[in-house]
Amino acid sequence: MKQPVDQLIRPDILAMKAYPVADAAGFIKLDAMENPWRLSESLLAELGSLLAEAHINRYPDPAGGGLKEMLRVTAGIPAGADILLGNGSDELITLITQALARPGATVMALEPSFVMYRLNAVFSRVNYVGVPLNQDFSLNLPVLLDAIAKNQPAVIFLAYPNNPTGNRYAREDVLAVLETARGLVVIDEAYGPFADDSFMSLAGSMDNLIVMRTLSKVGLAGIRLGYAAGQPDWIHELDKVRAPYNVNVLTQITARFALTHSGVFEEQASQLRKERSHLAEALSAYPGVTVYPSEANFLTMRLPDADLLYAWLKSRRILIKNLGGMHPMLENCLRFTVGSPEENRAVIAALDEYFQ
Ligand code: PMP
Repeated sequence: MKQPVDQLIRPDILAMKAYPVADAAGFIKLDAMENPWRLSESLLAELGSLLAEAHINRYPDPAGGGLKEMLRVTAGIPAGADILLGNGSDELITLITQALARPGATVMALEPSFVMYRLNAVFSRVNYVGVPLNQDFSLNLPVLLDAIAKNQPAVIFLAYPNNPTGNRYAREDVLAVLETARGLVVIDEAYGPFADDSFMSLAGSMDNLIVMRTLSKVGLAGIRLGYAAGQPDWIHELDKVRAPYNVNVLTQITARFALTHSGVFEEQASQLRKERSHLAEALSAYPGVTVYPSEANFLTMRLPDADLLYAWLKSRRILIKNLGGMHPMLENCLRFTVGSPEENRAVIAALDEYFQ
């Protein structure tokens, strides 16, 4: 006799909700930290002919076919570090958690931060300890160091800058975490291209450090490519957990192509940083609004009745992220991806109307 789903699926999975992805058709899409610009027509044509030559009848090169070497140069990955490629950095979080999931192991992250750190701990059946940030989302170093001493986490995930708050912690505080923790420290630099600091130059030279990055936020969210750099011993073990062909042929070709044109993406990132300052200034001028400092390609703000504003923007076909309900510290918080100048103007026009 067939068993019903709820007798076979793990109870902790039954109790979960799937990661919410809003339907954005017809909206100005500012909910997911994507780059607003497509590749130019001429670059798309060039990419099209490269993709046409792809051997999609064959499995992809498990080693990335030169991609790692190109990333080493463009991302400044030191010679002493090895590189692991993932189907987005999401997959790298999964691989790291799976590899460290000894019975009784603990995963630690700051709260609020990227939800996948906690969700992967659930999937891998390890303990999860969330250490609260201060009310203004800054790092409470003594509390974090105490939690590390008490829980001895196998891994601490630290988003630098943080999502969904946008801020970057003090470098000295993160160094203190690296020096104190006996477990692995994963510095997730998904928003690194928009930030003023990075730990990449230390990858390979600190024995408990892995630095993780992604091409998603700089313009290639659709191809799903993340990478992690760390000491060869770590990467060697993590690589055993990876499915052999996790980065597909089309992604490898597109990523190699994009990296030969990395200047385009760097230029866009610097334009988005400028847009971020303009948008931050505009948002801060509305009554009752607190805009948090951001070194990412998004801005998070708090205001009374955030649900009303969210619904208003939605009625104007602008989709942002309503952070309320995601974490108690995020009540009345909204997150705006920094868009193109035209998109940001549309946001400001809608807000002007709302606040008038
Ligand atoms: N880390 C952080 C901090 C993120 O915000 C995100 C995306 N929201 C990711 C990792 C995952 O990025 P991707 O899988 O697209 O590389």
